[in-house]
Amino acid sequence: MPELPEVETTRKGIKPYLEKATILAVTIRQFSLRWPIDEHLADILTGQQIQRVGRRAKYLLITCDNGTLMIHLGMSGSLRVLDSVERSQPGKHDHIDIEIDNGHLLRYTDPRRFGAILWTSEPIKNHRLLSHLGPEPLLKYFDADYLWQQAQTKRCSVKTLIMNGHVVVGVGNIYANESLFLARIHPKTTANTLSLTQCEALTEQIKSVLGKAIKAGGTTLKDFTKSDGKPGYFAQHLHVYGRKGEDCFYCKSKIQHYKETQRATYYCPLCQPISI
Ligand SMILES: [Zn+2]
Repeated sequence: MPELPEVETTRKGIKPYLEKATILAVTIRQFSLRWPIDEHLADILTGQQIQRVGRRAKYLLITCDNGTLMIHLGMSGSLRVLDSVERSQPGKHDHIDIEIDNGHLLRYTDPRRFGAILWTSEPIKNHRLLSHLGPEPLLKYFDADYLWQQAQTKRCSVKTLIMNGHVVVGVGNIYANESLFLARIHPKTTANTLSLTQCEALTEQIKSVLGKAIKAGGTTLKDFTKSDGKPGYFAQHLHVYGRKGEDCFYCKSKIQHYKETQRATYYCPLCQPISI
């Protein structure tokens, strides 16, 4: 599933081709995604200039003259920018093509069709899918004080806390596991028992882990138009995720594993002691 770093890498990859380009034509081969695509979308988009390619949580926001195209990659979606040579023969899962006036074409591919393509002419901040979301993890507002305040009223585990999009967006399962290890916090720690110092370590590590993943994705950007749209995001070194029974790199304890809300959870029993 594309996580926040993949979406941010995609944004950076498509942005230089799209901004200030005018949409010439839109071909929609499949209207049935997570939600049905607006049957008038092609007419709405054609002729508009793309002003900005932004992101909020895992939504790509393509701001045009008269509104915003919101794209969510769902479970298996990807976007590629194709030049005139590559654009022939769309495959079975190439559902949408947006042709722009600089010779390029933006293609949306999604085998499992859990993604979403939505148009809104309302202020984007007020959109029902975005208005309730917590802060972006990489922005200043997401800091120790904020996280500690949020934690005070919650009796869930710290892992559930940081994966809750109302608290902070974009901390997927791999990143939650890794951040908790690096902050030396047991994933089962009850949210309202976290100290301000722990919140400081945790916010710092969340920013660091996500930042590194975005940087790793960024190294593939120069090939964005040629690749399969799936750069190697997880090239970064994983400390606990997927390492059940293996030695901790720091203390040699065996990495432990359990499932929490159906999500694989990994931790080192020595580096991440459970607090009482
Ligand atoms: Zn350890």
